Amino acid sequence: MTTRELKVVVLGAGMAGMLAGIQLQKRGYRNAVIYEKADRVGGTWRENTYPGLTCDVPSHFYTYSFERNPDWTRHLPPGPEIQSYFERTAAKYGVLDMIRFNEEAESAEWRDGKWQLQFKSGHSDTADVLIAATGVLHQPRYPDIPGADDFRGAIFHSARWDHSVALDGKRIGVIGNGSTGVQIISALAGRAAHLEHYQRTPQWIMPVENGEFSEEERAAFRDPEVLNRVMNHDEYMAAVEAYTQAVTNVDSPEAQEMIKACVDNLEQSVRDPELRERLRPNHTPLCKRLIFSPDYYEAIQHPNADLVTTGIERIEANGIRTRDGELHELDVIVYATGFHADAFMRPMQITGAGGVTLQDYWADKPRAYLAISMPDFPNLFMLNGPNGPVGNFSLIDIAENQWIYIDQLLERLRQGDCDALAPSHAATEAFEAARVEAARNTVWFKGGCSSWYLDKEGIPSSWPWNFERFVSEMAEPDWAAFGLPSPTADDQSRVA
Ligand code: NAP
Repeated sequence: MTTRELKVVVLGAGMAGMLAGIQLQKRGYRNAVIYEKADRVGGTWRENTYPGLTCDVPSHFYTYSFERNPDWTRHLPPGPEIQSYFERTAAKYGVLDMIRFNEEAESAEWRDGKWQLQFKSGHSDTADVLIAATGVLHQPRYPDIPGADDFRGAIFHSARWDHSVALDGKRIGVIGNGSTGVQIISALAGRAAHLEHYQRTPQWIMPVENGEFSEEERAAFRDPEVLNRVMNHDEYMAAVEAYTQAVTNVDSPEAQEMIKACVDNLEQSVRDPELRERLRPNHTPLCKRLIFSPDYYEAIQHPNADLVTTGIERIEANGIRTRDGELHELDVIVYATGFHADAFMRPMQITGAGGVTLQDYWADKPRAYLAISMPDFPNLFMLNGPNGPVGNFSLIDIAENQWIYIDQLLERLRQGDCDALAPSHAATEAFEAARVEAARNTVWFKGGCSSWYLDKEGIPSSWPWNFERFVSEMAEPDWAAFGLPSPTADDQSRVA
């Protein structure tokens, strides 16, 4: 039987876009191209280069399942090692040959049964299928603090780190205490002459071990059997499941255990009672994205470090003026103030069937059927799209599961079962209604704190169920939602 030769365009050569490239090759899609706006692969790990950059997922699980890495030097993977892992993997799997670098997509329009793509460079292309692997946290959020232009020192966002600026012996202020700010403080305490951490809302900190692997251990991990044993998949999956149980049911034993670990960490690690109270959040642990750190509390108690909890009035030529009138003189100011988490593919202009624009479809908030596809946007599939699982586990696992689902959609197109695939409005609305209802039961909603997990209406923009349910939803599309009958046994044997 002849199959249709699909032209597949992937946008983004970060972790998810590279995964798409590898899997497309594996499935024999010869007419596939990845467009990347920058000149290297790596996505978030290319863009974030701040001191202390670390992923809080255990190293050996922060890889593609088909390309484990025995060489991690620590229990938690350092950012530069993650970037080199992705660069190595891209080369090994021939993904580099699929990528057109320095091409930023400006618009995509569904016209005449294809995606018509326009790039900033003037280049254009068409595709039968568009895969958006454009990442989640990639547009820096700058705080609305007056006076930044007056500052005479260096000032930059954590994701735009200026490596020409000397740090040793300088007076450094870090604004923001999410995962990023906390990691930067841990890295700079002891290096800066004076380090100030500007905290608007205290955060709970989960303790974690981050020891080094010895040379001998790393040599032993080259044996896949040893690595597999050390990784202990069952234990890891149990931890992921416990985490998802905890966030979806704050009264669960799993949640109570995590809450206790955070509270004990604060009580046992911070010696000065006055500092301890300033660090103590008044919200439930887990309600903001949980921060894992082996050393933040030690760092903030370093003699050269200060926690500043008085609000910021403005930035001036010589530093930061707080609301009590005090001027904090600084040489360097770092905004660790997060990202526009609701941007996804935007500001790219995407126009679907019948002239519907993504801007309009997402005017209230980003939404998608099972985080992957949208009605009126045929043959557009997202990896790590809106309202998918986010949390303290590997986004690589999420993308790999989403690929299992997308692969099956592609196969129906390739087999000629249909020309275009988009979920129905009814299926998408039913999914979104169920998701929002379930999201109201999560600790992100009930915990009473603000975070980038919440949309404009205060509803968590996330998968509100456990990980097991996500994996099972991704195992096979509900074909009725796409207006297709289930594939026959014959079709399925072709896919396998
Ligand atoms: P974030 O979690 O959004 O935190 C932003 C911080 O900036 C918050 O502390 C916020 O305070 C503060 N802030 C924002 N505007 C401010 C202002 N005008 N004045 C004072 N403070 C202000 O951003 P992030 O730390 O960059 O982390 C974003 C996400 O990246 C994480 O949640 C995580 O998903 C990912 N990440 C992961 C790792 C990892 O280890 N896997 C490491 C780094 C980042 P409020 O709380 O008061 O709003």
